[in-house]
Amino acid sequence: MRVLAPLTLCASMTAAGFGAGAALAWPADGLSKPAAPATHVLTRALTPVRVTAVRVSDDDGRRQTPVSPDEVSRWLQFADLVYKPAGMRFVFDPEKDFHDLKSTRINNTMPAGVDKRADLTDVSLDMRRIAAGYPKTLVVFFRWGNASTPTGNSFSSGDLNYVVGCGFASTGVCGHQNISLLAHEMGHYVGLAHTFAGSYQTVADAAAALLAANNNPLIFAGDPFDDTPPDPMISEIACLDTRAVRLGERDVPICRDNIMSYYDSPTKTLSPRQVRTVKWMLERRSRFDMTAPQNTPGRIDPPRPEAPREGAQDAGGAGPASGPAGPPGADAKSGSIIAEFETLPIAEATRVNASPQDMLGFSWYGFSQHAQLYCRAEKNATLAFKLDVPREGWYDVIVYATLAPDYGQVQAMIAGRRVGQPFDLWADSIVLPSGPISLGRQRLTKGTHEVSFTVIAKHPLASAFNFGLDAIELRPDGPAR
Ligand SMILES: [Zn+2]
Repeated sequence: MRVLAPLTLCASMTAAGFGAGAALAWPADGLSKPAAPATHVLTRALTPVRVTAVRVSDDDGRRQTPVSPDEVSRWLQFADLVYKPAGMRFVFDPEKDFHDLKSTRINNTMPAGVDKRADLTDVSLDMRRIAAGYPKTLVVFFRWGNASTPTGNSFSSGDLNYVVGCGFASTGVCGHQNISLLAHEMGHYVGLAHTFAGSYQTVADAAAALLAANNNPLIFAGDPFDDTPPDPMISEIACLDTRAVRLGERDVPICRDNIMSYYDSPTKTLSPRQVRTVKWMLERRSRFDMTAPQNTPGRIDPPRPEAPREGAQDAGGAGPASGPAGPPGADAKSGSIIAEFETLPIAEATRVNASPQDMLGFSWYGFSQHAQLYCRAEKNATLAFKLDVPREGWYDVIVYATLAPDYGQVQAMIAGRRVGQPFDLWADSIVLPSGPISLGRQRLTKGTHEVSFTVIAKHPLASAFNFGLDAIELRPDGPAR
């Protein structure tokens, strides 16, 4: 007979304090008691996040998305309640922060599966460029969709610089307007995944799936958090108020109140572990004017008034010194030498296994050539590449890497000499492009150079010493050509 662990809660944090869902039996598969609530956040000043609403119509003004400034405010009032435990409050001036945009292309935008994302790169970059015109704000494009009637679909993700929203009354859930939808998409924007992995029509379908997976409930897990248990999304009970569902011999908890669940509920909350991720993402986005840096070698970044100039040896690291990748509008031919790590010859590998990895599943357009070199590594692992330099000269050396929960801290070297500061590739529960990491200005002779990376340490919360490398750019000294 199977032994069931006594308790695992569907933990939640609300503005009123810490609450918990129904206490339910749950197997111990990697699940543990939720962390104690960080109640201090409730009394601290909230970080204001200014929101820009862009109401989209077609080029000719038709198919204008049915949303008003007042409706945006109502959506944001709900979002304020959800994100208060994460120390956020939304600021929106219906007069100043609501704009109209005519663009059939953007108005037609719909989410795409991994296999179709590359096709959407151009329109995604358009939206990124427009969003960059409203710096330091969270930009929401309220668009119509690609049909004759307005869509109720919305989407976002941690690597996008915007949320794609829809008409206020166009979206419904269980027979009423979906007031939690915008807050849910903001959850994706700040790095949260769904609490569920897949969805099922009926309880019987979910039970059959569980049985087929040898009763491993992790098939239902959409996020890696231990305070949001694997949460089967089942349509036939979506509108009830059940907190658990009997699947075979098990009572399986449902995170009905969680903002990243699709279940209907009048209140929506964040778990303590989700709060940690939201705060990490908000802090990271704040450093980059609310953008998410991209790996776009060869693009000249726009000047950033408050950013320090990338200097000879002093710049480096994934910190504020490395600015965001520029919007496509600032694209210019840099004359750079660009190499992708996934195709660069490896000179030497010690305590590391490197293999190319497709990254479209992690980012819509954020990785150079949509791929990286994934390096499964131990501490002190070193990976060296052969890099051809066709012309002698001074170069700004820029590395584009990947941030992930299992990634360590890396020191770069050229010909065995340290260049730039060590950079930390750890991310809290999300995979993201690092954006440009400066290794400083270097004099390189014509010929083959050894560029190497050593894992020297890891963030205390990083689960391993792995790392990921996307591309390297040698930007020649002097004006862009
Ligand atoms: Zn979602």
